[in-house]
Amino acid sequence: MAGVSAASAAGKIGSFLSKRPYAPPSWASHLSPAPSQTFSLGHGRVVCLWSLASDTRVWGKLQRDDISGMQLSGNKVRKLEFLMADAVAQGADCVITVGGIQSNHCRATAVAAKYINLDCYLILRTSKLLVDKDPGLVGNLLVERLVGAHIDLVSKEEYGKIGSVALADLLKKKLLEEGRKPYVIPVGGSNSLGTWGYIEAIREIEHQIQISGDVQFDDIVVACGSGGTIAGLALGSKLSSLKAKVHAFSVCDDPGYFHSYVQDLIDGLHSDLRSHDLVNIENAKGLGYAMNTAEELKFVKDIATATGIVLDPVYSGKAAYGMLKDMGANPAKWEGRKILFVHTGGLLGLYDKVDELSSLSGSWRRMDLEESVPRKDGTGKMF
Ligand SMILES: *Cc1c(COP(=O)(O)O)cnc(C)c1O
Repeated sequence: MAGVSAASAAGKIGSFLSKRPYAPPSWASHLSPAPSQTFSLGHGRVVCLWSLASDTRVWGKLQRDDISGMQLSGNKVRKLEFLMADAVAQGADCVITVGGIQSNHCRATAVAAKYINLDCYLILRTSKLLVDKDPGLVGNLLVERLVGAHIDLVSKEEYGKIGSVALADLLKKKLLEEGRKPYVIPVGGSNSLGTWGYIEAIREIEHQIQISGDVQFDDIVVACGSGGTIAGLALGSKLSSLKAKVHAFSVCDDPGYFHSYVQDLIDGLHSDLRSHDLVNIENAKGLGYAMNTAEELKFVKDIATATGIVLDPVYSGKAAYGMLKDMGANPAKWEGRKILFVHTGGLLGLYDKVDELSSLSGSWRRMDLEESVPRKDGTGKMF
């Protein structure tokens, strides 16, 4: 009920939440399968100037995919615009997806599903110690639970042994037996259909360059977690007039894994391009997925203080940190380049880091209110 009224109210405002027919950009018209419809789920994505504290002279812009919405924000929105349209076209009454305990993708899916009146089932991976406990309300979990997503917890060990595809299938079978019509969205929304989200993002960037008379970018830099974002950006950049080089900073698996994953996505769209020719993938995993060194967190804090831009420590923070480290190590590679850094969102995950961030964060004090400051009851006046 709520989903229906939210959708109709928003429909009056503009194209937000409307399902529209979709036609690929002309430069991507040979890719197939191509989606025939899309949902407008994100809004207000902009590019802004970004100065980077680096010795290397670079010109930076920031693609703000973190502000496409509040609950529904981040890079997963672009993939969900196509995945949700497909779910609806297939007559689904609920969606299933899988991710880590603070998955931004799962939160975005839960919100998008409710916007369009679908039920949402999440399989979340957590530690063995926590798998039998209430997962709490920190960060993404708060939004997921407020919008009424159904949550199934699995341990990392179970996840590793069974795999995300089999886990989702298991839940799908159960829901089918209950008479439901589930639609499965893979980890991170990273399948060939989801890849269209960032192919479309390239069309948007290309269009912005055309109307603003802006310079062409030499490089696009972005974090990589499940591969769909870089696959779309790399394909789009190569096929469009953009031709910027895509640099991915991986926050979990190694570059070899991602090249083969991205290649599968490219092959899935019947393109004969090679991942190795399209995207440069560096390892920025550090201590491990969703784990941060004190230095990385200090970097996130310093960028926030210097620019007002809050990067998330799990993805964009690690990517920007990796990029600046690489600029220090290989200045010739970056000197004079014009860089578009894509901020992929993930801010709700910050709440999972409050303990680690507390010692770094801004100062506070008790306001100084001497006796002499006049009180409303007339006391404390100087005379
Ligand atoms: C998922 C995610 C990424 C990585 O995108 P993939 O398409 O999964 O590689 C980057 N940043 C944030 C905030 C994310 O949630």
